[in-house]
Amino acid sequence: RGSCASDSSDSVISTGSEADSQVYKVVLLGEHGVGKSSLARVFGGVEEGGHDCDETGNTYDRSIVVDEEEASILLFDIWEQDNSQWLKEQCMRMGDAYIIVYSVTDKSSFEKASELRIQLRRARQSENIPIILVGNKSDLVRSREVSVDEGSACAVVFDCKFIETSASLHHNVQDLFEGIVRQIRLRKDSKEE
Ligand code: GDP
Ligand code: MG
Repeated sequence: RGSCASDSSDSVISTGSEADSQVYKVVLLGEHGVGKSSLARVFGGVEEGGHDCDETGNTYDRSIVVDEEEASILLFDIWEQDNSQWLKEQCMRMGDAYIIVYSVTDKSSFEKASELRIQLRRARQSENIPIILVGNKSDLVRSREVSVDEGSACAVVFDCKFIETSASLHHNVQDLFEGIVRQIRLRKDSKEE
C-alpha cells in the first residue's frame, strides 16, 4: 500500500485562496477489472507503465479548470480496497458525486453497474447526487458486449449522465471529469436557490 504516487504533485494550478475553493469528493464504483484504477491514474496524471499499481486503494487530488473556474477534485479509488461491508457503506455515504464504471466488453459489469446505482439511490435517498455512468474500454471494438445505445438507455432509466471512455487511449477521460464538476455545480446552484 502506498507505493503509488497517490497525490499527483503535478497539480496543475496553485490556488491562491484555498480556503474558499471547495474540494469535491468523487468516488469510483464498479466491478473488478472495468478500469477504475486506470481512469483514476489518467486523471491523476500518473504515468502508465513501469510500476503496476494494482488493487489497493488510492486517492488522487487534482485541480482542473472548468468553464473558466477552478475546481478541486479528490478522487477515491477505494471501492475494492478491502471487502468489508463497512468500507462499502462508507463509500456510499462519503461522495459528493459518483462515477459508476462498467466495461463495454463485459455485460455482467454493466448489470453490476445498475445494481450499484440502485444501492446508491437507497443509501442516499433524499439527496440528488450527481452520478455518471461510464462505459470504459471503448477502444476494444471487437470484444464489445454492451452497445452505446444500451449504455445511454440505462443512464436515462437511472437518471444519470453517460459517457464512454477509453482509459488506455485517454479518450473522453477529461470530458468525464469536467462533466462531473459541471453536474456538481448545477446541483449546488439549484440547492442554494
Ligand atoms: P479496476 O479493477 O476497475 O481498477 O480496473 P483496472 O484499472 O485495474 O484495469 C483492469 C484491466 O483493464 C487492466 O489490465 C487495464 O490495463 C485494462 N484497461 C483499463 N482500461 C482500459 C481501456 O480503456 N481499454 C483497454 N483496452 N484496457 C483497459
Ligand atoms: Mg483497481
